[in-house]
Amino acid sequence: MQKQSVTTAQRDAITEDTPTDELIAWTLERFSEQRLALTSSFGMEGCALVDMYARVGKPFTVIYLDTMFFFKETYELRDRMAERYPHVEFVNRGTTVTPEEQIAKYGPELWKNDADTCCRIRKVDPMYDVMAEVDVWITGLRRSQSVTRANLRVIDWDWRYQVLKVSPLAKWERPQIWEYIKANDVPYNALHERGYPTVGCTHCTKAVPGSSPDDYSRSGRWSDSEKTECGLHGGEGI
Ligand code: SF4
Repeated sequence: MQKQSVTTAQRDAITEDTPTDELIAWTLERFSEQRLALTSSFGMEGCALVDMYARVGKPFTVIYLDTMFFFKETYELRDRMAERYPHVEFVNRGTTVTPEEQIAKYGPELWKNDADTCCRIRKVDPMYDVMAEVDVWITGLRRSQSVTRANLRVIDWDWRYQVLKVSPLAKWERPQIWEYIKANDVPYNALHERGYPTVGCTHCTKAVPGSSPDDYSRSGRWSDSEKTECGLHGGEGI
């Protein structure tokens, strides 16, 4: 399908200072539900963002990429989110490559031997398939999450996926997100209260001793290797 164009004038309606709720409303008014993808890995930021979009009252879809290596707490959170937001559709567009098929082709524990290939199979390739079908990508990324996200803009063209990338939470800090979650009774991953600042695949996520839910750190991800990002964001990662 032909991608919709977004004129400079239309994009100029949005600036770095546009309030988060106005930015969210703009994306839902400007683009059809079918041409817009809000992706989430059910992290704290993603859950807050889903709540903010749900408040507009229009139907929309949340795309998640099930790597088949999620924690059981993440699947439980997905179910709680679906129950809490009945007019939001949660769609899994994750890999169809089963863990058994991956072992047959690449050997056991690919996440240890070649994590980049494992992430490509289970996250990056499926993401390309999703992005090929939409014009706008809504992310829950924040600038202060990592140095690779420090220059994140609230709205920007993503050359890699050829979509308009909108990050309504770009300027938010983790304590603000946690405050929002608590104030609005937004479901969140139970692991955040057990020392996991972020939650990814079971094989590549560890608790960070002493961390609290409002304390963002990626040090629990790929902690046994040099890897810091999964590659979904062209140097950034969920
Ligand atoms: S985070 Fe780990 S287990 Fe998950 S896809 Fe990447 S390398 Fe594989």
